[in-house]
Amino acid sequence: MSLLEVTDLSKHYAGRPSLGDRLSGKRRTLVRAVNGVSLAVERGEILGLIGESGCGKSTLGRAILRLHEPTDGRVVFDGTDVTALPAPELKAMRRRMQIIFQDPYASLNPRRTVAEIVGLPLALHGLASREEARAVTARVLERVGLRAAQLDRYPHQFSGGQRQRIGIARALVSNPEFIVCDEPVSALDVSIQAQIIALLLELKRDLGLTYLFISHDISVIGYLSDRVAVMYLGEIVETGPVAAVLDNPRHPYTQSLLSAVPEIGTKRARGRVRLQGDLPSPLNPPPGCKFHTRCPLAVAACRTLAPETRTVGPGHSAACHRLDEGLSLLEGAR
Ligand code: SF4
Repeated sequence: MSLLEVTDLSKHYAGRPSLGDRLSGKRRTLVRAVNGVSLAVERGEILGLIGESGCGKSTLGRAILRLHEPTDGRVVFDGTDVTALPAPELKAMRRRMQIIFQDPYASLNPRRTVAEIVGLPLALHGLASREEARAVTARVLERVGLRAAQLDRYPHQFSGGQRQRIGIARALVSNPEFIVCDEPVSALDVSIQAQIIALLLELKRDLGLTYLFISHDISVIGYLSDRVAVMYLGEIVETGPVAAVLDNPRHPYTQSLLSAVPEIGTKRARGRVRLQGDLPSPLNPPPGCKFHTRCPLAVAACRTLAPETRTVGPGHSAACHRLDEGLSLLEGAR
């Protein structure tokens, strides 16, 4: 059994109707941020979730933890249906399922000391007395490369990388098994990114953690993931072992992402694929294959029929009508 099993998970929000919608009498619109996502994360692995900004990756991460209440679908963690848990049990489950946020500036309360920020989960879950909490917090702070002497400082007294270490300490202090890493390095300088990635890998190895690692940077995902899920406009379009997806990407969207990073993968030719237009709005997603408005391989069927997800190799699947034709946007890829 996988540690985490997500089945047909959706998160829709009520959106503001556009002028055109209002003129045509439409008073309510839906933002389909996440639409029928299914995935599994095995114990001890890193599943990388890749996609453009606005594709629904972060919403998916938050819906898995029920920080955003899912509209539909199921999340089963270690055999427990998280989506069905009443509030007290959900709170207890949150001790085991944590999140590291993207922005180390916005995610820390500027009026709280590091001791208060990192120690908050201990108090929330009743895991330690006040005196014990300070000792536990000090230990975790040192584990992430900070010093116990910094416990009474405020977030503004730290650099960006140090603040992200505080965010990591806050996620670790309740001794979780699973962490959603929501773009944890994208707000940091490149040199600091490498340090934080090394720290996250070290913690995973030493503490036996499992990560859902969200990023828009396929080099980062390729470097640290065991498996990859590629997301486009609220849906997973390809998933598989990292080597299979990076060396032999089957979905045209994955191919376009990889074409921008020539050093990743070994079997692909170089050459940038430039997609036309922007990511469509989840307020008004295209019918058929959601990628058809930008896909250089689109045919008539793509505009009306949503492709099914099909197995294309061991543990490797993709959703595209043209899989059997062996086409690729990457010259000499296969
Ligand atoms: Fe492109 Fe059609 Fe495949 Fe969608 S189904 S990725 S539009 S070829």
